[in-house]
Amino acid sequence: MSKLHPCFVGICYNISNMQEKKIQLEDIVSFAKRRGFVYPGSDIYGGEAGLYDFGPNGVELLNNIKKAWWKANVYERDDFVGIDSAMFKHPRVWEASGHVGGFSDPLAECRNCHHRIRVDKELNILGVEADEKLNEEQINKLFDEHRDEIKCPVCGHKDFTAAKGFNLLVKSNLGDFTGEGKRPVYLPGEACQGIYLNFKNVVDTMPVKIPFGIAQIGKAFRNEISPRNFLFRTRELEQADTQYFVAPHKNKEAFEHIKQRRWDWYVNDLGIKQENLKWHQHENLVFYASDAWDIEYNYPSLGFDEVEGVHDRTDYDLTQHMKFSGVDLRYHDPVTNEKYIPWILETSMGMGRCFLAVLADAYTVETLPSGETRTVLKLKPELAPVKYAVSPLLKNKPELVEKAREVFMALKKKHGNVMWDDNGNIGKRYRRQDEIGTPYCVVIDFDTLEDDTVTIRDRDTTEQVREKITTLLAR
Ligand SMILES: [Zn+2]
Repeated sequence: MSKLHPCFVGICYNISNMQEKKIQLEDIVSFAKRRGFVYPGSDIYGGEAGLYDFGPNGVELLNNIKKAWWKANVYERDDFVGIDSAMFKHPRVWEASGHVGGFSDPLAECRNCHHRIRVDKELNILGVEADEKLNEEQINKLFDEHRDEIKCPVCGHKDFTAAKGFNLLVKSNLGDFTGEGKRPVYLPGEACQGIYLNFKNVVDTMPVKIPFGIAQIGKAFRNEISPRNFLFRTRELEQADTQYFVAPHKNKEAFEHIKQRRWDWYVNDLGIKQENLKWHQHENLVFYASDAWDIEYNYPSLGFDEVEGVHDRTDYDLTQHMKFSGVDLRYHDPVTNEKYIPWILETSMGMGRCFLAVLADAYTVETLPSGETRTVLKLKPELAPVKYAVSPLLKNKPELVEKAREVFMALKKKHGNVMWDDNGNIGKRYRRQDEIGTPYCVVIDFDTLEDDTVTIRDRDTTEQVREKITTLLAR
């Protein structure tokens, strides 16, 4: 470096967020809004429960996560293809999938104030294993055993109705002009159905052979009674799914590979700390499933909870669609000449949950030698919303501004999301970029005009190096 700037030059101690201060979910929520990552949905109208909008920094991070997912699950695989199916589907799809009959949360109503509670979740708080897959009789038996311990969170009474399944599917009137809602077309309760519907199309039109997989990122909607915990449980969500089709009983070994691959993706591609991840095996399996695991992330305030499910689903999905559609969905094996319904190994990630995990994992508060603290988002550079921030050292020197604009436009053309930042002193700019995870800040000063070099400051080490503009552009 030829010259030190009159600005902050520091070496930070690597104090992790855990040691320094326990980060709470509310810290992440307010940070996400303040720095343009996630806004409450319909904010100017006071918000709408369970809906969120991604801001300029948020959409970049979200898209980068999606790109990393697509790369790992489609581009780097020789046995996967991608699709993008329509959100709306034939109403029979949701009958075949079991969503019309069974996609429900067990709710009970307070007889005093009419507030509804999710009985399985209340039981979980008491340490009782229960979920929405139990039938009404099973959940009511558990509920009755613990009624004394469950209070209405609104009025404090303990007088509830029996638990009853409340269907989560969201209805629309798309294509229904009767005005009577006789043929409701549902919004997707889960995104993966589009993959099953296109299994035959893909086999008929693409050079695929079993075992192979189909990947898709799609939206889903759920009439959650109590959306909560920010992006963790929302009414509109996005899912990144893969369905891997294997020959009957060829599931076990492939399932282990898939589990390992998905774990490695969180650690290596997203850079999530291994200690914040763990596996959870399902105890209550749906009747057709052979095995089911969740990858859980240690969310601030919430603790470990599901970010992705990895499921061994046997031949249930295609069997159902074959039955309901009347179309033969069996696979004709060109080698053995056998015909069979493939078994399916599924991975299903909640995109919002993954986004929240990435954000929370990267969010770090550090103490600098000066005693000041800085917030820094330690994202992998590939995931950072802004690749480079570019500033002139002084914004009232036209020659510096002009040169800085030139570098800015050249970097922007190459990398896309590059930010112009000339507000406040250099120290403040660095701090602002640290907060949104920008890996490099580029400063144009008077030396630049002489020798075409710039200062490049590293987010994590805060070290600064001098580099030729041509070298920077060739990075
Ligand atoms: Zn009540």
